Amino acid sequence: MTAEAMQSPAFANIRAESYIFDVGAPERRGIRFSKADVPEEPLDNLVPPSFQRKTLLHLPEVSERDAVGHFTRLSQLNFSIDTTMYPLGSCTMKYNPKVNDAIASLPGFSHIHPLQPVETVQGALRLLYELQGFLAEIAGMDACTLQPAAGAHGELTGMLMIRAYHESRGEHQRTIVLVPASAHGTNPATAHMCGYTVREIPSLGDGSIDLAALERALDSSVAALMLTNPNTYGRFEHHVAEANALVHRAGAQVYGDGANMNAIMGIVRPGDLGFDVLHFNTHKTFSTPHGGGGPGAGPVACRAHLTPYLPNPQVVLHEGIYRFGESPESIGRVRAFWGSFGVLVRAYVYILAHGAEGLRQISEDAVLAANYLRVQLQDLYPARFDGPCMHETLLQATRWRDAGVTALDIAKRLLDYGFHAPTMYFPLGVPEALLIEPTETESIEMLDHFVHAMRAIAQEAESDPRLVRTAPHSAPYRRFDEVAAARRPNICFPGCL
Ligand SMILES: *Cc1c(COP(=O)(O)O)cnc(C)c1O
Repeated sequence: MTAEAMQSPAFANIRAESYIFDVGAPERRGIRFSKADVPEEPLDNLVPPSFQRKTLLHLPEVSERDAVGHFTRLSQLNFSIDTTMYPLGSCTMKYNPKVNDAIASLPGFSHIHPLQPVETVQGALRLLYELQGFLAEIAGMDACTLQPAAGAHGELTGMLMIRAYHESRGEHQRTIVLVPASAHGTNPATAHMCGYTVREIPSLGDGSIDLAALERALDSSVAALMLTNPNTYGRFEHHVAEANALVHRAGAQVYGDGANMNAIMGIVRPGDLGFDVLHFNTHKTFSTPHGGGGPGAGPVACRAHLTPYLPNPQVVLHEGIYRFGESPESIGRVRAFWGSFGVLVRAYVYILAHGAEGLRQISEDAVLAANYLRVQLQDLYPARFDGPCMHETLLQATRWRDAGVTALDIAKRLLDYGFHAPTMYFPLGVPEALLIEPTETESIEMLDHFVHAMRAIAQEAESDPRLVRTAPHSAPYRRFDEVAAARRPNICFPGCL
């Protein structure tokens, strides 16, 4: 940390947090346990002596007040969706209604065990069964599994299903998966993990998939096309139905990456566009808090010809009883027990709370908000593509190249204005990309506030580029060595071990 940063008011705020290990005093406690009222087991019986510590662990001894202060301050050092707009493109960082958490915490949901007899958990199974149905309906497909733990895991599940389908037909020569240039990195990674060779299909000047190139690449060696719609440029693939028909004509399948359903839910159904299988990101579209690494869920919906390959087990309704059903052709289990059950409860509540019309309005408002930002900002931050975007707008911070101000600098300076940064330098190949996704949950006042900040930063980039290049100025920490932070993280407090 620089001397300058240590003088800043924000640093004063975290000083106590940084030195929690130095505050407190011996024997200071937040809680006192009563004496055990059962015979105490000798320590050597519980932990073999060779595993026992020889020296005491240097832990802070603090009062409850100091501990609460420590954790509350830590929580405030970070940006959160609950406190500010979080326009991280491709991630759909919408506000997550608290009622979802409250309902997922009800004892009937949170105190049950996955090995309980099904007769004792009929309500929970009904919820899963109905959620399978809701998601299949939203996708315009016939069935759905709730097992996968995340979007990328859903991709793996769907691609394994496609592989099983081809194998069941004896089409072992299908070893190639086509992926457009604009795809999220997880798509080629998934295809590769399934043993396929990935071939990239270029995009046209308007960001859409090059149909002619797709047609040239299609033959009997192709297993699938993995397509995201809207794509990661924030554009609706206008020729999606033609693309999918071409793929089917070649005997291949179409995998739909449904991470961007927040733009089209309730308006158009991927199944109607010709997709065969699609994953959802419940933690994006259906309001599970995310960003801290999980848990999430990546349900996968598919059309009838792929349903035999869905992971086992499925929740089925048989003679009035909800139970687990198995298919002999299934790709097998992809997740322990029932998947991320609490996350699935949240998705179910969210869907019921909004209803069909509400879900449609979510998409419409998300698209409206992104276009509002595009129109308000594109004179200073040119849009990569002409015309309307979907739920996210792809702008470029190329105007200040000569002054050495980059998209990264703009993103850092936004922190000083109280906003989390948008996604930067993604999609790949778009110079100084800023992918901005405001989501439907921000008010027009908040959007205006963001526009104001972006325009003010643009002005600073002209008049005082150094101010922008050295941002953030108000955050407790400045710029990190991001490579070292990822490769050699040091998460130990000195003296703690
Ligand atoms: C987020 C995202 C994924 C991956 O989802 P995870 O839940 O993070 O695994 C895949 N594709 C696209 C387009 C995404 O935006």
